Amino acid sequence: MKKVPLLDLRSQYSLIKEEIRKAIDEVLESQCLILGSKVEELEKSIAHYCGSKFAIGVSSGTDALLISLMTLDVAQGDSVITTPYTFFSTVGSIVRVGARPIFVDIDPTTYNMDPQKLGEVIEKMGRKSNVTVKAIIPVHLYGQCAHMDPILELAKEHRLKVIEDAAQAIGAEYINPNSSDGTVKKAGNMGHLGCFSFFPSKNLGGFGDGGMVITNDESFYEKLKMLRVHGAKPKYYHKLIGGNFRLDALQAAILLVKLRYLDEWSEKRRQNACYYDTLFAESGLVEKGFISPPEPVYRYKKREITSLLNYHIYNQYVVRAEGRDNLKEYLKKNRVETGIYYPIPLHLQECLSYLGYKKGDFPQAEKAASQTLALPIYPELTHNMIEWVVDCIIDFYRTL
Ligand SMILES: *Cc1c(COP(=O)(O)O)cnc(C)c1O
Repeated sequence: MKKVPLLDLRSQYSLIKEEIRKAIDEVLESQCLILGSKVEELEKSIAHYCGSKFAIGVSSGTDALLISLMTLDVAQGDSVITTPYTFFSTVGSIVRVGARPIFVDIDPTTYNMDPQKLGEVIEKMGRKSNVTVKAIIPVHLYGQCAHMDPILELAKEHRLKVIEDAAQAIGAEYINPNSSDGTVKKAGNMGHLGCFSFFPSKNLGGFGDGGMVITNDESFYEKLKMLRVHGAKPKYYHKLIGGNFRLDALQAAILLVKLRYLDEWSEKRRQNACYYDTLFAESGLVEKGFISPPEPVYRYKKREITSLLNYHIYNQYVVRAEGRDNLKEYLKKNRVETGIYYPIPLHLQECLSYLGYKKGDFPQAEKAASQTLALPIYPELTHNMIEWVVDCIIDFYRTL
């Protein structure tokens, strides 16, 4: 095998080159470069895709989170609850609006916020007179939805707002057959505001930075639109302090082309995941405890959830691996690229030390940070490549 990269954007581009070039040309000829009709078309398409009433294109996934917090008036003196096991931008946005992040440990099976622990933290914070919790940011990590029903219930009970960080999860679905309605819900469309990223490595990636916020609340939508252009409405009449959070027309035009392929690509990722799962099961590595593949379906017997189904879009295929760092090194020598998302949980990051958290505070997040490894999962990956990756892993454990 020549090489198995973690992501191969060139092979995807070569498949849709003509369409993309045409879309780019159209924008260049129009010279309408920022916001405008292409962005509006993308907003309508994403809202339709997610089943939300409104969508608003912004400059990045990070800015989607930031503008969402600003829309909810989260500011100095407020606290926002999130997970310590996510990309930095989730917590960075909280700090940037002047609020204080409060962490809740993750569920070891899904790597997402543990709803039971969330309940405990909310209760504990409720007893402190100096803490005002305003919002919760659950993250749908790796492309699998957090267990949203209990999170939404807790939010409702305590009058908290919910911003979904769905940066890695566009198109992922949450199905809870035990719930009263039993309906399928799309990532981003369950809380008050949902955030997406179009960073090139996401399932729907642009040719640069981009993001989107979705909501079903018209007043939030109006405020988002204002905040995106320095809080102005009409132009040069500033009602709020916003920012430049605009999406480029070029990115919108490219994303409109790619959106047509999104479900097909995510399905291919799922098929690749399924093939990995099968090969790992056959290899005996799972049984021996060397490799724990991701579990796309919650079926905890230990706890009360028994049949919660999740439509995982596998932005990442992440395994727990015995001797993770050595395995990563071994795979690199065999030209297999892997990733670690994320090596340091957020409560142990240098810039957040002022929060006063210490090692041992979130054992599941810390354990995940030391054990997880992302394997190549992109849609254009071939069966041969997957077999090569698994064979290398088998060889590695044989030498132990
Ligand atoms: C990618 C990502 C973001 C930020 O998106 P950008 O477009 O890179 O700003 C936020 N949260 C999570 C979980 C992400 O994976």
